[in-house]
Amino acid sequence: MERQLALELVSTVRHDGDGGVADDLATVEGMTRWIRERADLLPGPAAEGFSADEELRDLVVALRQAVRALFALAVSPAPPSRADADRLIPADLALDRLNSAAANEPVAPQLLWPPGEAPAVRPLSTEDDPRVRITAGLARAAIDFLAGPERVRLRACTAPRCVRYFVKGHGRQEWCKPACGNRARVARHYQRTRTGADLDPDPDRS
Ligand SMILES: [Zn+2]
Repeated sequence: MERQLALELVSTVRHDGDGGVADDLATVEGMTRWIRERADLLPGPAAEGFSADEELRDLVVALRQAVRALFALAVSPAPPSRADADRLIPADLALDRLNSAAANEPVAPQLLWPPGEAPAVRPLSTEDDPRVRITAGLARAAIDFLAGPERVRLRACTAPRCVRYFVKGHGRQEWCKPACGNRARVARHYQRTRTGADLDPDPDRS
């Protein structure tokens, strides 16, 4: 449900397919696209015609920084995503920032029960500013995720150059996707057979 937004927000920092890190929210246009693609998950004002501005982008990027710091805390003592491992903000600052963003929009739970369907909860808000509603909605999603059952299955992918966080499925999944598993196995093989060589077996084009 809305909780998946937390992982999607964090995943806007991603491998660029060429050994570096890309940011889907680096521009206002990117921010607008990202929000429009999630119009069904985000609160009302994030409808299809919505356009972001630099202020909203700043707010969301700051919130993402907080959520990534808390994801790093969630996977510890395993290492965090290497995309920002050297510049994570402290956990107390991240918590303050996340909770403040959520507190900016008071919401009341409303029960929706269409005939023949299962009842569902929808937050009712009197907030008009879409920037507040979007950042608060993202913050609530992150709070639900981090306080929910998926947190213990959160992992940072350890494949070479991958920077993704993912929720581990059932079974022995060690990597975010099969291509990462293949790359990690190839890298291990090269390490065993050609110790010391600086090899880059398979650029991630998958
Ligand atoms: Zn991966």
